[in-house]
Amino acid sequence: MLYLLYAFVATAASVSGGLLPLYTRFRDIENNYLIGFASGVLVSTAFFEMLPEAVSTTAKGWFTLPLVAGFFSLYLVEKAVMIHACKETECDIHHAGWVGMIGLGLESLLDGIAITAGYITNPVLGLLIGFAVIVHELPVGFSTSVIMKCSGYSNRDSLIALVATSAPTFLGALLAGLFPLQLFGILLAFTAGTFIYIGASDLLPEAHRKTDWTVVAMVLSGALLIPVFEAVLGF
Ligand SMILES: [Zn+2]
Repeated sequence: MLYLLYAFVATAASVSGGLLPLYTRFRDIENNYLIGFASGVLVSTAFFEMLPEAVSTTAKGWFTLPLVAGFFSLYLVEKAVMIHACKETECDIHHAGWVGMIGLGLESLLDGIAITAGYITNPVLGLLIGFAVIVHELPVGFSTSVIMKCSGYSNRDSLIALVATSAPTFLGALLAGLFPLQLFGILLAFTAGTFIYIGASDLLPEAHRKTDWTVVAMVLSGALLIPVFEAVLGF
């Protein structure tokens, strides 16, 4: 049941990340570095850890369809949210409003499922996925608060939104524990697709709103950290 603890810490990380812009002077540029680091960690976790495990635990060919489905279902949800929120106007702040919150909540739910699917397949994999979720949820919580603030919501409303969009991680981890064992390889492939989407097409461009070598170094160190962890943990 350690996966529930990882999911709980991830939920707490997201909420804590969201508290930073509300109550401290932590700045956007520092968040760029964190986002860059998180994108490296997510993509690397998917390629180094989740996919090989999904390949070895599913029957031949069964990991490709869920992998692609994971990638494009998040793409669809995200674009549906944007089209709903922005209509034809160009805007920088897309995710305010309840539709955006549903998108964020769904992503958190998948994070929780990934932690449990990884843990039940191999406890060390669960730990690595838990780490990847915690690391990216910090800046995601941060961004949620910034967006709420820019949209004119009070700190109290931002806090409610933060908890509502972060708690599904714990819920996802809890629910995934009830799934039949044969499903976990498929779930791993699906959530690996979502990790790649979030890491490569959401967080990476977001980190590079400002491009300097520090951002590049943060992305690469996030990516390198996963195989290093793997070696240290003997996975
Ligand atoms: Zn997430």
